[in-house]
Amino acid sequence: MRLDKWLANSGIGSRKEVKKLLKTGAVTVNGKMEKDPKVQVKPDQDQVMLFDEPVEYREFVYLMMNKPPGVISATEDKQDETVVDLLDDLHKNFDPHPVGRLDKDTEGFLLLTNDGGLSHRLLSPKHHVPKTYFARINGEVTQTDIAAFKEGVTLDDGYKTKPGELVILSAGLESTIELTITEGKFHQVKRMFQSVGKEVVYLKRLSMGALVLDEELELGEYRELTEEELSLLK
Ligand code: URA
Repeated sequence: MRLDKWLANSGIGSRKEVKKLLKTGAVTVNGKMEKDPKVQVKPDQDQVMLFDEPVEYREFVYLMMNKPPGVISATEDKQDETVVDLLDDLHKNFDPHPVGRLDKDTEGFLLLTNDGGLSHRLLSPKHHVPKTYFARINGEVTQTDIAAFKEGVTLDDGYKTKPGELVILSAGLESTIELTITEGKFHQVKRMFQSVGKEVVYLKRLSMGALVLDEELELGEYRELTEEELSLLK
């Protein structure tokens, strides 16, 4: 990998800032001053130092975002803003991708990482990672719906869902609920309610596996996972 990428990924600054720093002669590779940002360095072989302090190589990044509505869960899109567009340069440098998708109008917990192994594990149907959603529903959600979701409902394409745990927070002309599911079919929550004749009018993901959305994060904000959160995922 390029020396400027190594330095930028370690959190020292943007690629531009790193280039300036390199020009000052502050960086050595294996003890020799190196000013060329393009020079290739190998994490398992080379030692990079800044002002005589080792700069640890950081391969992966793990981010928790409170996804805002109107933004696409993808790395790029021709028309719309994506969740990756919301990241600063330091985090974009890692080329992270969202782990699974939330609909454009859905808000809440979204994990982004460049650790393909982890995202594969989290998304694999074998692992049944639970995801909990808060939703506002047009219509009165009832005990019958709880029983139906527990049993599994048949979606519009004939697929029968795995059991979902539905909790009614308030019931009336509009109801509020929490639903935990272990799958991630396209528009799954909306289609589960559609199957019982009701419409989701607002949807927010609260958690994924053991990770819970940080209440401090405003819509569109994100932060790196703590060591503890990361250990819960692995
Ligand atoms: N289910 C949905 O219908 N939409 C989402 O964004 C996530 C789950």
